[in-house]
Amino acid sequence: MLDETYRADLGDREPVTGLSHDPATGLSHDPVTGHPRPPRREFKARGSFTERCPGCNLPVLNCLCPYRASAESKARVWLITHPLEHLKPTNTGRLIRDVLPDTEVFTWYRTAPDERLLALLDDPHFAPFVIFPDDQPDYADRVVGMDAVEVAKHQGKVPVFILLDGTWRQARRIFRKSPYLDRLPVLPLATTRLTRYRLRKPASQSHLCTAEVAAELLRQSGDGEAAHLLDDYFDAFNVSYAASRRYEKIEQPTPAMRRLLAYRGE
Ligand SMILES: [Zn+2]
Repeated sequence: MLDETYRADLGDREPVTGLSHDPATGLSHDPVTGHPRPPRREFKARGSFTERCPGCNLPVLNCLCPYRASAESKARVWLITHPLEHLKPTNTGRLIRDVLPDTEVFTWYRTAPDERLLALLDDPHFAPFVIFPDDQPDYADRVVGMDAVEVAKHQGKVPVFILLDGTWRQARRIFRKSPYLDRLPVLPLATTRLTRYRLRKPASQSHLCTAEVAAELLRQSGDGEAAHLLDDYFDAFNVSYAASRRYEKIEQPTPAMRRLLAYRGE
């Protein structure tokens, strides 16, 4: 069954056309003769695509659960997620929490900041950085580099990457309309990496999705193992979801999937 979120997610993929389908019997009817016909293969495939695994929320056709693996990291990730983003099965922010169990996820409401987030921002144990581009002059005095993350570690603090999880427009709104972020240092992600995300069309290949941003930050700040694991897990998610959209079952695990299975087997 398709709900509205799902329909939006499918984009241009409309159900099989040319047949009238009776949901009560599961039978299609020939549009010319009116005689019942067995359901077309695509129809069955589409049904299996819409069935989702309760563990990973991906279509059961290519479930992600066998590849789920967790790592430890010196830096942490807190997500401030736009409420509309939570509903999207293509959201990659949740992959970060699967790999790094200490990841915090907050829902952003403009008029009601999360009390727990405010308390954590005041905790001197943490050194939070807002990850955001440095393309506007009015906050140039708050922009820092990766060296500031090293300094925080030397001071015995836990560096925290605060990711604004939503579309670029939503992220900009969160950045601009959250006064509690105004005093935090802004860390732009400097990378030449291009996105591998296949599930949404990016405005530019240099626009990384949330999980890719986190993996790159972890890599640059010295959490190499967590970065590799998140990268592989993202890759498995990406490939699995894209294959399910084509109604294809992945028969042979990809190299990233094989690495995750080996890691889990250790
Ligand atoms: Zn699953």
